[in-house]
Amino acid sequence: MEPVLSKALVWLRNDLRLSDNPALVEGCKLDETIAIYIHATDKGLRPEGGAARWWLNRSLNSVAADLAKIGVKLKVECGLSLDVLKRVAGETGADSVHWNRRYGPDARELDKTIKASLREDGLDVSSHEGNVLAEPWTVETGQGKPYSVFTPFWKTLKAKDIARPLPAPRGKSIKSDAVDTDYVEPAWAEKLQHYWHHGEKAALSALDDFLEDKVEDYPEGRNVPAKDVTSRLSPHLRFGEISAREIWHRALAYAHAKPSKAGAIDKFLSELAWRDFSYHQLYHRDDISKVSMQPKYEGLEWRNAPKQLTAWSKGATGFPIIDAGMRELWETGYMHNRVRMLVASLLTKNMLIDWRRGEDWFWDCLVDADEANNPASWQWVAGSGLDAAPYFRIFNPVTQGERFDGAGDYVRRWVPELGKMPDKWVHKPFEAPEEVLKSAGVVLGRTYPNPVVDLKSTRARALEAVSDL
Ligand code: FAD
Repeated sequence: MEPVLSKALVWLRNDLRLSDNPALVEGCKLDETIAIYIHATDKGLRPEGGAARWWLNRSLNSVAADLAKIGVKLKVECGLSLDVLKRVAGETGADSVHWNRRYGPDARELDKTIKASLREDGLDVSSHEGNVLAEPWTVETGQGKPYSVFTPFWKTLKAKDIARPLPAPRGKSIKSDAVDTDYVEPAWAEKLQHYWHHGEKAALSALDDFLEDKVEDYPEGRNVPAKDVTSRLSPHLRFGEISAREIWHRALAYAHAKPSKAGAIDKFLSELAWRDFSYHQLYHRDDISKVSMQPKYEGLEWRNAPKQLTAWSKGATGFPIIDAGMRELWETGYMHNRVRMLVASLLTKNMLIDWRRGEDWFWDCLVDADEANNPASWQWVAGSGLDAAPYFRIFNPVTQGERFDGAGDYVRRWVPELGKMPDKWVHKPFEAPEEVLKSAGVVLGRTYPNPVVDLKSTRARALEAVSDL
């Protein structure tokens, strides 16, 4: 008689890795393991944007090849999650299903329903902690409430014993076929290939390079968009090619070995903790991509200004640092953090355009478009979020440009038509004397746009709009 084999389905979602993947470890305890990724059409789940689809297709191929090395085949399916899981469990004879938890309200509800239904069918189901440093409900105030301010959240998180990453399961290699991810990606995303490497190996090497070569300069340099001193781990984290816990423990080990870098590493880990803070908000609040976390902001009268929205999204506002950021985003699927803050401030404050319009554009264009970080950060800048920038903080793109891109290197890289502008005027060509513009070959309104808003009067308008709430 054939021996009865136990079979596990491991449902991958935002955790396309082998290391520190508790669901995969659990599944690999059985005789046979099959991994599954579902392009889910369930109601309430936010479909990925264009740049994220481009990344996802490559990341799935990368994880499929890695899984094959430990004897696990990856199936990529499309449809309603429960239907697909039931069908595949039936076809493969799986007796258990395992996944790592997700934290959005709709996804949680869906997972609950799926768990109950699969269990009714007699399957063993387990869910695990794998995507954050600490589960959102385990970080709470002294009164047992969720945090709404980052600093105390960070203190509590830092004092926790963050779980150590699990090693990748082992197994006998099988043949690896290319995965037909069957997921349409936009033609414009093709150019992104010049800027990124995908997969777990690339994520780990980005982390190691960062710790070795960049982290020392991180606390100061991270604000300078022309400098390449941040980790660029965000898309890898978004798709779970590396876990936050892996980053945490590797960075701490590095700080231990090189005490002179410990201060810089602490700053880096505090930024990583903002990600957990975003997931804390995603978990505890209503849909943060749709609803302002400070209810009074739902009463703000946003402007309908399609021409300004288009100028902003195309990088044609007439403010060089803004245009540089929006063009960096379009070209690479990424934008430097400080510039993200500046472009979001110009849109939501000077243009008084709803933060949801900007969040949507980022969602489509960012390779790291993240269901927690993107809306939480947009709401932070707009003033409607938790621990948000005070409403009166309206970044001035000229003075910010002069402060953080003094020599204009970032602007010149992304806005080449200003390449010959002298440093003094590169952030404010609209104030430059005629002869300066002429010798730099700039004709305002023709080779480079005039500013689409007046900074002073729009600042006053924004302050008034918010003071009315
Ligand atoms: P590092 O500085 O090297 O940080 C390491 C990791 O820590 C990041 O990958 C990220 O996971 C986390 N992190 C760092 N800074 C922040 C922060 N301010 N908030 C939350 N997490 C942080 N980040 C995303 O991952 N996805 C998004 O969709 C996203 N949208 C944003 C939208 C706006 C308007 C703003 C202002 C910020 C947004 N961020 C988003 C946060 C931040 O800009 C990026 O995480 C960071 O620029 C990524 O680069 P890095 O990996 O080199 O960061």
